[in-house]
Amino acid sequence: MAEFDLIELIRARVAPGDGVALGIGDDAALLRVPAGQELVVTADTLNDGVHFPAGTAAADVGWKALAVNLSDLASMGARPAWCTLSLSLPQADAAWLEGFLDGFLELARLHGTTLVGGDTTRGPLSIAVTAMGWVEAGAALRRDRARAGDDVWVTGTLGDAAASLVLVGHVPPPTEGAVPSPDPATVAALAQRLQRPTPRVAAGRALLGLAHACVDVSDGLLADLRHVCARSRVGAEISVGGLPASDALRRAFGDGRVALQASGGDDYELCFTAPPGLREAVALALEQAGVDATRIGRIVAGNGVHALGADGLPWQPARGGYVHFG
Ligand code: ADP
Ligand code: MG
Repeated sequence: MAEFDLIELIRARVAPGDGVALGIGDDAALLRVPAGQELVVTADTLNDGVHFPAGTAAADVGWKALAVNLSDLASMGARPAWCTLSLSLPQADAAWLEGFLDGFLELARLHGTTLVGGDTTRGPLSIAVTAMGWVEAGAALRRDRARAGDDVWVTGTLGDAAASLVLVGHVPPPTEGAVPSPDPATVAALAQRLQRPTPRVAAGRALLGLAHACVDVSDGLLADLRHVCARSRVGAEISVGGLPASDALRRAFGDGRVALQASGGDDYELCFTAPPGLREAVALALEQAGVDATRIGRIVAGNGVHALGADGLPWQPARGGYVHFG
């Protein structure tokens, strides 16, 4: 199959979308942002063997390539609208591409996101996505707006994806000792969170006007919260023993779960700050958005993220967030 045939295969599966004056097929797409809205743009690349274990199912790679980008839009409080897809493929494998599109377009449909262009080249497997959306002008959730006294919250649960990477041997266990071998249902539940992360788009929208600062958890909670603190010129105190955990994670890792939750990453939950006076409003807004949220600490004057164990004493991660080229 030639490059043109692959592009045609993609184009044939894409339905027309909102605000798209001209989609795939010309030299560039023409898009319309509604009046009073700001365009929100983000890009993220997945590389074979780095961002997903080699041999991951094509549909899971497709889902995740878009999910990590929609998660960035979610953390800004944006409504997803469009995306582009730059594919580097080792060979023109139509079956792999069809599987990839199954996952990618399934998630795109769920969020009303239209694929409007991209690039198709030969090379090591790599997927670069740009996602675009919009948010009411001036209202976006940002990293630099946290204030001393804010509560720190996180949506959903943390640690499942990192636990799955440990189980498949992609990363070392968080603590010394053998890798656990949980039952197949537990393994599958953890793998699902790694392979099919849920971008918290509705939560991000619900937090507009309530949250002060927001970030999505991709590199690990403490590492991502550190960015918020640095940009906002504040510090944070986090009780790592109180981080929300799934039943599967508790079953598989017991107390060893804490390090996975604090610094594992790949969660794609939202970590945000909001004033204590808005606790009930935040809880209600997120309930309506269909997602759980947990208060995990507070923003303080100063700098840095201070992780506290169940005993109230400083807690040290065995290893920091996953840093590329770190
Ligand atoms: P050009 O050479 O002008 O860059 P291409 O032949 O690369 O054009 O692309 C033709 C059209 O197909 C363009 O509209 C481009 O955006 C689209 N396209 C190419 N690859 C992809 C892809 N992987 N996903 C979506 N659209 C694509
Ligand atoms: Mg091109």
